[in-house]
Amino acid sequence: MADEKKLTSRAEDFSAWYNEVVLRAELADYSPVRGCMVIRPEGYGIWERMQRALDDAFKATGHRNAYFPLLIPESFLHKEAQHVEGFAPETAVVTHGGGKKLDEPLVIRPTSETIIYAMFAKWVQSYRDLPLLINQWANVVRWEMRTRLFLRTLEFLWQEGHTAHATHDEAEAETRRMLGVYRDFMEEWAAMPVVTGQKTESEKFAGALRTYACEGMMQDNKALQAGTSHNLGQNFAKAFDLTFQTENGETAFAWNTSWGVSTRLIGGLVMTHGDDKGLKVPPLLAPTEVVIVPIWRTDADKARVLEAADRIRRSLGDWERREPNQLRVHLDARDSMKPGAKYYEWELRGVPVRMEIGPRDLDQNQAVLVRRDTGAKTPVSLDTLGEDVEQLLERIQDAMLETARERREQNSVRHRISYAEFRELMDGQGAFVYAGWCGDAACEAQVKEETKATIRVLPDEEFQSAEAPTTCLCCGEAAKVEALWAKAY
Ligand SMILES: [Zn+2]
Repeated sequence: MADEKKLTSRAEDFSAWYNEVVLRAELADYSPVRGCMVIRPEGYGIWERMQRALDDAFKATGHRNAYFPLLIPESFLHKEAQHVEGFAPETAVVTHGGGKKLDEPLVIRPTSETIIYAMFAKWVQSYRDLPLLINQWANVVRWEMRTRLFLRTLEFLWQEGHTAHATHDEAEAETRRMLGVYRDFMEEWAAMPVVTGQKTESEKFAGALRTYACEGMMQDNKALQAGTSHNLGQNFAKAFDLTFQTENGETAFAWNTSWGVSTRLIGGLVMTHGDDKGLKVPPLLAPTEVVIVPIWRTDADKARVLEAADRIRRSLGDWERREPNQLRVHLDARDSMKPGAKYYEWELRGVPVRMEIGPRDLDQNQAVLVRRDTGAKTPVSLDTLGEDVEQLLERIQDAMLETARERREQNSVRHRISYAEFRELMDGQGAFVYAGWCGDAACEAQVKEETKATIRVLPDEEFQSAEAPTTCLCCGEAAKVEALWAKAY
């Protein structure tokens, strides 16, 4: 069987390893359309768990969901100068409908600022209508030339939050609040530690005043921009005449924010946690938290073991019809496969805990729990199985975050580094390098040109080095700020 072939190791070829994991763990598949992907149930199950957690967090911070059209009049995109410059090269345009050429071409949304703020302009009259806090779950299309499953595809799924506020400061607070929501989600649910901070002018969103981002480190030491939050200022409000009457009776333009995360997070999860056996899914996002693999040799044993395994499954939770407090448990009762082949398959799919149970375990009133993250095996009594499994899942969730954080710190450089050393590092194993920047876009461009590394963010205070760098990584002039430099996806 082709599937029995070992995965390419991460050390051998990280990129090939990634593609093999995504395909063989059945997260996604290539589609008949170049650059598009099919998200398969294993991958979509992770996305559904991500959606649920994020949606709860958005609602807890006062946002409501709405839905706007997929098609946007082309003229809308042209109303905000930077926005059109940033997105026009990668839009897909519908020119015909119902067999006729359209009077005005329609753009398939690459993002929805333009159509959403055109609608906000209709709905907002007075300061009493503000803040307006909307989120949309949707698909978007960006005509990318080089695509990778989950990381960069022509069409992807995401959420985009869009808000309108009466003042700059309220919009800024919202932008930062949602960055914090993303960071909490990435760390607490995806076990993916991120560095937060502001993007430079050249890396900010097309049409934004300021962009903030969460940057995770993948196992090849490259950064993945996992979520962004933008203070749009009044740029879109001016373009779409989004005004309101202030408390003093004056007319003013509203202040907007937008923020998004996408199915890219699934790629981030693969590259943060996976190993040479395949995927490792953090328990909170795992569609299946526990897989029970029954072991038998004789028919008599089989009946007895399967009966016990099914009883355990029902007591822990039902995979198909689960209640909120139940665990997501699957019993792999296939008799066409040996236990070893099942272990291999569930490890590849990244299920956090495997429970092995055979006749000898039953004789001792126990089952064996095997952690996917460390491979550690622990026998546990059937009398306390529920609690033991739950505690183990919590420990795995915490350990995965800790492991990822340690790896990131080990591969971060905070000491003084010469530009020559930096170039060598970026040519080789890569790293997160915290170094000074003079603030000149020319230095930023030169580093990008020569090393492919970019300023990921100007890190927030808690991520800054104890001793602030004094000189620019590139030109050696006095540093204005500390920057996090890395190669990125
Ligand atoms: Zn410089």
